[in-house]
Parts: sequence; C-alpha cells; structure tokens
Amino acid sequence: MEKLDIVLYPEAGLKEVCAPIPEMNDDIDKLIDDMLYTMYDAPGIGLAAPQIAVQQRLIVMDVSETNDQPLALINPEIIQSAGTVDWEEGCLSMPGIYAKVTRPSDILVRGMNRDGKMIELEADGLLAICIQHEIDHLNGTMFIDRISRMKRTRAIQKFRKLLAEQSHP
Ligand code: ZN
Repeated sequence: MEKLDIVLYPEAGLKEVCAPIPEMNDDIDKLIDDMLYTMYDAPGIGLAAPQIAVQQRLIVMDVSETNDQPLALINPEIIQSAGTVDWEEGCLSMPGIYAKVTRPSDILVRGMNRDGKMIELEADGLLAICIQHEIDHLNGTMFIDRISRMKRTRAIQKFRKLLAEQSHP
C-alpha cells in the first residue's frame, strides 16, 4: 500500500465537482487501499478522492475507535435525511482547524461498495456526519463553506498562519 499526498486548502481541486466512477475495477480497488492507508496514517476518520488529487466520486471512512471498520463508497448519494446535529469538524486538508457545523443527524446513503454492489446504508452519529463531510468534498464543498462568513474568514486566516509557522518554525 502506498501513502498518498493529501492536498491542502486552497488547492483548486478541492473546489471542483468530481466525476462519477463508471464501474469498479482493479485501479479503484488499489486506490481504496491506498486511501485507507493514507487516512489511518494521517490519522483521520474520512478521506475523499479529491483530497489526494483524484477528481472522482470515491470516499473512504472509518469512525470506529479500533480502526477496523473501513468503509468505501463509490458515487455516494444522500437520498434521505432528517434531524439536525452540531459537531466540531476538522479536515485533513485543513489540519489544525476546527469549526462547528450543523448538518442532518440521520441519513440514508446509496452508493457502490468495493465489491461493485449498489448498497443503501442508514447512518447516524459520527458516521452520518463523516459521510456528509466527505460527500461535500466530491461537490467541491469544504466544511468551512458551511459556517458563517465571519467564522470562515477567521478559520482561513488561522490556517494560513499555521502553514506559515510550519514553513518557518
Ligand atoms: Zn475534509
């Protein structure tokens, strides 16, 4: 398995709508392994293909505490949602930045699994939040696009400062 480079905000690819994946194949299967490896290594609980500069509709996640429940979804779509939840979200493309985002708390998602089968999955709690955050990436939306403009400006300024500190410690 290969560790992939995670692109950081404001990389242009993070603003793009990604293309559907026509069918499951060996390349996508390898990509899923590499993305999971990269996500666990980061460490993170979710990763979307555009975060590793692949503009395709693929997300991987694992919200278990034991890191042994990997989930990959191809062309995922939210077909039902209900309730609301506030959660302090972070993102591997904006490390060090956290912001409270309001989203539906319960979702029904449809997509292809890594066996190439169409599945429907009901999710709530952290998994529902994570799936929505990752699907947002496939549509060029970052979690900071879901907070007020004032908070977004502050988050971007803070992230620029963190990056500058990293390059000039
Ligand atoms: Zn993210």
